[in-house]
Amino acid sequence: MRILVVEDEHRIAQTIKKGLEQERYAVDTAYDGINGYDLAAAEDYDVIILDRMLPEMDGMMICKKLREHKNHTPILMLTAKSQTSDKIDGLDAGADDYLTKPFSFEELLARIRALSRRPKQTLNDIYSVGDLTLSTRIFRVSRGSKIIQLSSKEFSILEYLMRNTGKVITKQQIIDHVWDFDADVLPNTVEVTIRNIRKKIERPFKNAKPIIKTVRGFGYTI
Ligand code: CA
Repeated sequence: MRILVVEDEHRIAQTIKKGLEQERYAVDTAYDGINGYDLAAAEDYDVIILDRMLPEMDGMMICKKLREHKNHTPILMLTAKSQTSDKIDGLDAGADDYLTKPFSFEELLARIRALSRRPKQTLNDIYSVGDLTLSTRIFRVSRGSKIIQLSSKEFSILEYLMRNTGKVITKQQIIDHVWDFDADVLPNTVEVTIRNIRKKIERPFKNAKPIIKTVRGFGYTI
């Protein structure tokens, strides 16, 4: 899961980034509207957290422009005001949800979870393929009755593949979704991480079917 935070108050932006990284999201930040818009338009995010009042271009305008350009990434708008008219303006501009400052981090997380699963209409945060189960809420992966320990990147890749069951996912898509903008990731890093995931979710289960299939020249699928 990759998230963009557009917020001109550095302290708030950094607090959100740190908190989300602890929850294993990959997070990019922008501190003004133009940078925020450029990143939002150029990169493939799962959720955008957008402050309403920003220098250069305000959150409302960013939202409108993204929607005009058929970018439907879920947007959570942050605002210092709580007037109803303000909320309606934001939702009219194309935001999916609204959060009034100050807010608790738990509240922010709950909204992100709700937004990020909205496109797939998933009712809970548990994904299963055969006897493999992954829970995003408690960061747990198990196969049959055995609990499997994954690193945070391994978990994120497996989650991404399981959320897109049946689709072929390219290495570049994995890089875009699992690592943030500052990370210097080579396609080889993805291969190595996938190999490590297989070692943990496939190798110990001798008679079980492989879970992750390689689609030569394209990427991976579950
Ligand atoms: Ca602001």
